[in-house]
Amino acid sequence: MILRKLHSTVCIVGAGPAGAATSIFLSKLGIEHIIVDAATFPRDKVCGDGIDIKAVRMLNHIDPSIIPNELLQSDKYTPSFGFRFIGPNGKNNDFIYTPKAGEETRVPFFVSKRIHFDDFLIKKIDLKTADFRQATKVKTISKEGDTWKLIATDTDGELEITCKLLVGADGDHSTVLRYLGDRKINRLHYFSSIRQYWKGVEGMHEKNLLEIHFTNDLPMSYFWIFPLANGEANVGFGMTSELAKKHKVNVREAFRNIIANDSAIAHRFKNAEPIDEIQGWGIPAASLKRKVVGDGWLLVGDAASMVCPTTGEGIGTGMMTGYIAAKFIEKGIKENNFSEANLSSYTREVFKRIEPEIGKYNFSLKYPFVLNFIANHLIKDNFISQSLMKKEFARWITTCYDKEVIVDVR
Ligand SMILES: Cc1cc2nc3c(=O)[nH]c(=O)nc-3n(C[C@H](O)[C@H](O)[C@H](O)COP(=O)(O)OP(=O)(O)OC[C@H]3O[C@@H](n4cnc5c(N)ncnc54)[C@H](O)[C@@H]3O)c2cc1C
Repeated sequence: MILRKLHSTVCIVGAGPAGAATSIFLSKLGIEHIIVDAATFPRDKVCGDGIDIKAVRMLNHIDPSIIPNELLQSDKYTPSFGFRFIGPNGKNNDFIYTPKAGEETRVPFFVSKRIHFDDFLIKKIDLKTADFRQATKVKTISKEGDTWKLIATDTDGELEITCKLLVGADGDHSTVLRYLGDRKINRLHYFSSIRQYWKGVEGMHEKNLLEIHFTNDLPMSYFWIFPLANGEANVGFGMTSELAKKHKVNVREAFRNIIANDSAIAHRFKNAEPIDEIQGWGIPAASLKRKVVGDGWLLVGDAASMVCPTTGEGIGTGMMTGYIAAKFIEKGIKENNFSEANLSSYTREVFKRIEPEIGKYNFSLKYPFVLNFIANHLIKDNFISQSLMKKEFARWITTCYDKEVIVDVR
């Protein structure tokens, strides 16, 4: 059998939010490329399904009409107007963004099952410039001179893909990372986490608040309830893996225990029922500071370990790395130079946007119970916390609806 061959200057492995965003932004720059994904979409991805402010910002960069004309017109995207923090002391505090008159399309967050969101995103891939292949799994990667050779399998057998610049967008279990020899897990910067869909959880807020619950006896962890359409909710729990190991916490048991026994939570699940099995997946936090660029390669999203360590959000940071990567790929093509030296500022540009959260996370790693102390204070419903959050909301909305992300490729 003759091996089928494909070639392009750029090949992206993975079409989750990070890979799809890289492709979409490359197309906007007129750059032809190949993008492959092992899955056939729509496909699920274990997640809290919270579309955070960075993801909203990236959607606005793709096309400002997406939010008013698509997301807000479909019940697959639940607009959320704020947070409910439930403290280790069991007290609630709701922080709600109130849009100004005429500003109703400026929603800060959405919740959308990944089976819908990721499928929505891959449909934005521009097939005029992108050769997009689903059900195409990269099996082996090798390099001859400055050319990458990928062997993938699809429904017709084996496929050889060659390229000069390889983009690893293949998530937490990345094959690209394994080839680069860097897939080791550091439990201090990795969260064990689970998700389960439920129906009938009571006491959800009419503004679809994202509920985050901190518990006293489980340091560096949180339990969430994120509202979905039709009375459904994404319910989950995540904890820093190192502390789960140290305190002998089984995250599935901890999750079940909160639902059954936690005084702030259990009564809300009395008449609720799960609608699928508990699903687990890891969360690679940006505080690891993985090497994200080398000679002829770039990593984006979870493959780059790019999840915000304080919130567990990786959709927006993944899409943002895709946006930034596209600018560096454009530079590499213009200068016909994909060397690490030429692309090295990619590291600065991706980390500078998440550095403050890395600082906070590393501080709380040293003093894990400080997080709960802060959380208890956040829960206090008073003038100071409400006015601080009001200012934050205003800043977030301006940033994600009005401000372009400026990338310095020098
Ligand atoms: C329980 C849990 C809750 C979370 N909650 C949130 C949340 O509420 N909000 C948020 O923003 N983030 C959340 N995250 C993080 C978020 O899910 C990830 O950060 C995000 O999916 C990263 O996107 P990605 O495109 O990098 O990777 P992925 O979404 O994992 O996509 C990788 C893609 O690569 C493909 N692939 C893998 N291997 C190959 C191969 N060999 N060949 C070809 N294709 C391949 C896969 O099929 C997949 O489509 C959560 C994570 C977990 C586990």
